[in-house]
Amino acid sequence: MHSQEPYDIVIIGGGPAGLTAGLYAARARLKTVLLERMGFGGQLLNYDKVENYPGFPEGIGAFGLGELISAHALKFGLQTLNAEVVQLDLNKRLKAVHLPKGVLYTRTVIIASGASPNKLGIRGESELTGRGVSYCAVCDAPFYRDQEVAVVGGGDTAIEEAIYLTKFAGKVHVIHRRDRLRATQVIQDRAFNNDKIHFVFNSIVTEIRGDAQGVDRLVLKDTRDAAVSELPVNGVFVFVGIQPNSRFLPTEIDRDAFGFIYTDQEMATSVPGVFAAGDVRFKRLRQIVTAVGDGATAAFSAGRYIEEHFS
Ligand code: NAP
Repeated sequence: MHSQEPYDIVIIGGGPAGLTAGLYAARARLKTVLLERMGFGGQLLNYDKVENYPGFPEGIGAFGLGELISAHALKFGLQTLNAEVVQLDLNKRLKAVHLPKGVLYTRTVIIASGASPNKLGIRGESELTGRGVSYCAVCDAPFYRDQEVAVVGGGDTAIEEAIYLTKFAGKVHVIHRRDRLRATQVIQDRAFNNDKIHFVFNSIVTEIRGDAQGVDRLVLKDTRDAAVSELPVNGVFVFVGIQPNSRFLPTEIDRDAFGFIYTDQEMATSVPGVFAAGDVRFKRLRQIVTAVGDGATAAFSAGRYIEEHFS
């Protein structure tokens, strides 16, 4: 027996998926706590504006949207705790969520731990991170007023952030490894029409060079003829996809080769009573709107699981 009354749901992660799961769980009067290791909002904290979240035809600031979603969940009484999960024991009837200080017991767990930016893994990248190498345009763009910067990547994030950077930088070089972008067409069109953006296709960055003052150039290799060139820039923003924050999870939660968690359409994972929502989940469309949908479904499914197994 555990002296503490167990939780119905422990939610891991305070991005749009976790907060929405918390909103639904709190409104259903399930005893719930949401664990977040940093601030609420997840990846929204890294972005400027959201243009495709329904209900905001003029777009909405990403940070502001995160604040609204968390305020909404807290209004319905969602309990939160600033803590990082160190271990999960999922094999008993009550699951144990180990924190640096103490253990929480719970009937169900919703994993909404999101994803983090990939690194290029090249020379100079880690050495110059914070001194010219960045993974967050909103955080660092103002340092590059009227300077030249590079963006690496060709997906939605890279192209949207390149457009954002043009508000500050004098010139933005987008370096992409293929001859066409992956980003959504409307975002591509906007970038192609932006005079400050210069595209460098069929190129990979092999090294980031600089000194104590910061980045001063990139070494590029042409993927067609292996020609090597240098591109002088003051900063480089890396947006080459994301990796799931799932390394802390036990192996019995099935994942794909990259670590994204497999679920069924009810958001149930391979472990009974454990659900997953948002970017950490294996799925095709990773958006705020799909994350909040996942969160609502996961909370509903957790409630059903509790009814079926604990009443
Ligand atoms: P992504 O869609 O996976 O795109 C990653 C980009 O980085 C691709 O262009 C890829 O090249 C390139 N890349 C990957 N590894 C590389 C490497 N080692 N060296 C050089 N380039 C590399 O990732 P994302 O843009 O971060 O987006 C993640 C998810 O969020 C996507 O599902 C995206 O649609 C979504 N998202 C949506 C919005 C929106 O709707 N407004 C905004 C942001 C993100 P290849 O094209 O050659 O593979």
